[in-house]
This record gives sequence, structure tokens and C-alpha cells, in this order.
Amino acid sequence: MNSGSLDAPIALLLSGGLDSCILLGHLLEQGRWVQPFYVRSDLVWQREELAAVGGFLQAVDSTRLRDLVILDLPLRDLYGDHWSVTGRDVPEATTPDNAVYLPGRNVLLVVKTAVWCQLHGIGELALGVLRSNPFADATDAFFDDFESALARAAGNRVHIVRPFAGLDKRQVMALGKRLPLDLTFSCISPAGGIHCGICNKCAERIAAFRLIDVDDPTEYAAGQVGMK
Ligand SMILES: [Zn+2]
Repeated sequence: MNSGSLDAPIALLLSGGLDSCILLGHLLEQGRWVQPFYVRSDLVWQREELAAVGGFLQAVDSTRLRDLVILDLPLRDLYGDHWSVTGRDVPEATTPDNAVYLPGRNVLLVVKTAVWCQLHGIGELALGVLRSNPFADATDAFFDDFESALARAAGNRVHIVRPFAGLDKRQVMALGKRLPLDLTFSCISPAGGIHCGICNKCAERIAAFRLIDVDDPTEYAAGQVGMK
């Protein structure tokens, strides 16, 4: 699932959610040196996400894991009264996957991280994108074009790799079964610092644990009411 040399570090965008955290465990298990990133955009779930990222990194502590780099990319000026900024009318459990699309999300997440990689001589940037990702900015064509545009601007190419792009949620969850998944965070409407249990992403999380018949260790403010 990856072709990089073991000694060359690979950058990884972490969101604190299941997919990117499992990808971290997977890359380390493959013997890769990993440079983790978190992009701080001041969206409503940031505090909980960032705490999850810190907790997970600490738990999987490895000599091949570099210190977390946090990049600031505030989006409140751009997103205005979007639910990701206001926390109002957040897509609930029954909404379709595309309800949680954030405008320009992958462009914004990747651009600063990829330039950091160019500046620091890292040739690969990994994203925890799954086969089921429904968005146009998660396709092969999008990433190929984006990678080329960045290389044209700066000369050295950063390969944007998606080791899980051929896998579905069940396969990814199975890969991560032995990781401390209780420390991950997926909610877009945190309640009192914990998962709300009723938003689109909580429903996806609840369904993900059911896929592998593992007891969901997550504490949900509303109990496990969501289903997708
Ligand atoms: Zn939630």
C-alpha cells in the first residue's frame, strides 16, 4: 500500500479521526518515519480534535514519530456563517455524506502542508482518504493535478499519497483494531468536550465500530442514537 523508502520520512495530515489515526499506526507498522501535521482552522471541533491528536500521538509513541507540526489556516473569515464556524444547524445523523462537505477543504488542508514538505525536503504527504470518499476534491485526478501545480511552482515534487484509497471503512477499521481508537475524535458538534452522538460524523463513527463488531469505546453525550 505504499512505495516509499523506509528511511525517507512521510508527512501525514492528522485530523484526530479514525481514518487518519489508523493510517498513522499503519505507516509506523510498516517501518516508516512519520512527520505528523494538524491544520488549525478555528472550526467548532478544533479544541477536541487537537486534544485527540495529542493524546493519540502520545499513546502510539514511537522513535520513528516526529514531533507534531501545527499549521494555522484560520477559515472563519472565509466560511462566514457556515455551520462549521457557528456550530448551528450541523448536519445530523440522517443527512447524506455530502452534507458535511467543507468548501475547498482538501486544497486548504494540503496546500500549506505540502509547501512545508517542499521546504523541508519531504517527498511524500499521506492523507487518510478512503475509497468511499464522495467528494470531487478527493479523486485521483484532483490530487494528480494539485501535485503537478505545486511541483510547477516550486520544482521539487511532493507526492500526495492515499494508502487507504482502495479500502472501505470496514477494512480500515480492521487494520486499526488494536490501536487506541478510544483516543480518536470524529464529532462536528462536540457537547461538553465529548462526542455529541447525533451529528453526521458521530453516526459514521458509531457505524464504523459496528462494522468490525468491536464495542464502541466512545462516550456520546446523547448515547448511541446515530446510525448511518
Ligand atoms: Zn457528533
